[in-house]
Amino acid sequence: MWKKLILLLMIGLLAGVLYAAKEKKHTVDAKGCIGCTLCVQSCPTKAITMQGKKAVIDPEKCVNCGLCVPKCPTKAIHPPKTEKKK
Ligand code: SF4
Ligand code: SF4
Repeated sequence: MWKKLILLLMIGLLAGVLYAAKEKKHTVDAKGCIGCTLCVQSCPTKAITMQGKKAVIDPEKCVNCGLCVPKCPTKAIHPPKTEKKK
């Protein structure tokens, strides 16, 4: 009984951590991307790939270094949203 509860708790915790990690990475606004590939060249972890003519960031590979942000001529790359303080 207790083992099952602890196991469920751990699975829930792990899922929450993974979800949070996935959400808090740099992202590309596809509408603003003109497909120049400058960000792809700038990423040290190769987290950015071109899908068609749009850049896409793999949240599993992005380490939030921010190097790609100033490279984008259209400011289409956005840092993770930070929670607003009340
Ligand atoms: S923030 Fe850094 S790791 Fe993430 S996509 Fe941009 S250059 Fe790559
Ligand atoms: S640098 Fe900006 S415009 Fe160029 S491919 Fe990357 S996201 Fe798109």
